[in-house]
Amino acid sequence: MTLLYTHEACAAHDPGPHHPESPARLAAVLSALAGPEFAALDRREAPEATIEDIARVHPRRLVEGLLAAIPKQGYASIDADTILCPDSGRAALRAAGAVAAAVDAVVAGEDKTAFCAVRPPGHHAEPNRPMGFCIFNNVAIGALRAREVHGVARVAVIDFDVHHGNGTQARFAADPTLFYASTHQSPLYPGTGAASETGVGNIVNLPLRPMSGSNEFRQGMTRVVLPALAEFAPELVMISAGFDAHRADPLAQLMLNESDYEWITERLVEIARDHSRGRVVSTLEGGYDLAALGASAATHVRALMAA
Ligand SMILES: [Zn+2]
Repeated sequence: MTLLYTHEACAAHDPGPHHPESPARLAAVLSALAGPEFAALDRREAPEATIEDIARVHPRRLVEGLLAAIPKQGYASIDADTILCPDSGRAALRAAGAVAAAVDAVVAGEDKTAFCAVRPPGHHAEPNRPMGFCIFNNVAIGALRAREVHGVARVAVIDFDVHHGNGTQARFAADPTLFYASTHQSPLYPGTGAASETGVGNIVNLPLRPMSGSNEFRQGMTRVVLPALAEFAPELVMISAGFDAHRADPLAQLMLNESDYEWITERLVEIARDHSRGRVVSTLEGGYDLAALGASAATHVRALMAA
């Protein structure tokens, strides 16, 4: 079956009025996962990540400095897009802790697949710099925990968020036991993710022009990303599941729909079945049209449950 990790603290992180990364996003995802077809989900409360877990990705001093910079009231800005409120620290710790706990449970064989409905998102957070709505790099923290604590030899992250996961790439690029592949719109924030960025042969970037849709996405995945992933033969498949490449999303101009998220999730589940004993840990990244986000996340989780 499929695990669902979340925590109410993740809804308390509030980057301010009119910010697209709003608490309503998490409510939309959880509401979409509340119906009877999702009754079989193994629902768990996300624990807080330990500093030790986070420190495999971000220097301990930066982590402690960030937590100390959480405002007692009002807001504190990391950059123009990345805003802290009094509840942001516990939200960020639960978001990273969800992925770490999901890795523990899936590697232990408690369930084959897991989805972490969390925010703030993580894939833009570089080792030395939180940015782009992201505080800690949740998926990288989970990947490093899998390798360092559980001895998982090869961990892959597939990122279909419409933005390039510069933070995950930065942490993974020099490490041949980790694999990162991203489809993303280009040009678009954060500007990284050219096809020429290949790390030590473990990074695959597939930039897509604005207005690209299902055909370009599926062809690129089929021709470039999925063969490279299968060749890497991951022992654990992780997904940075952002749903902002949906045609309804206000932050970008790709033209995907829910069926594309079903299709890619099924393909990743197949590769996990062949190489990873079926183990898939997925975590929420972006997605800013609330209706499209809820429907897309539901489609994604449905495909994980069918694994
Ligand atoms: Zn995004």
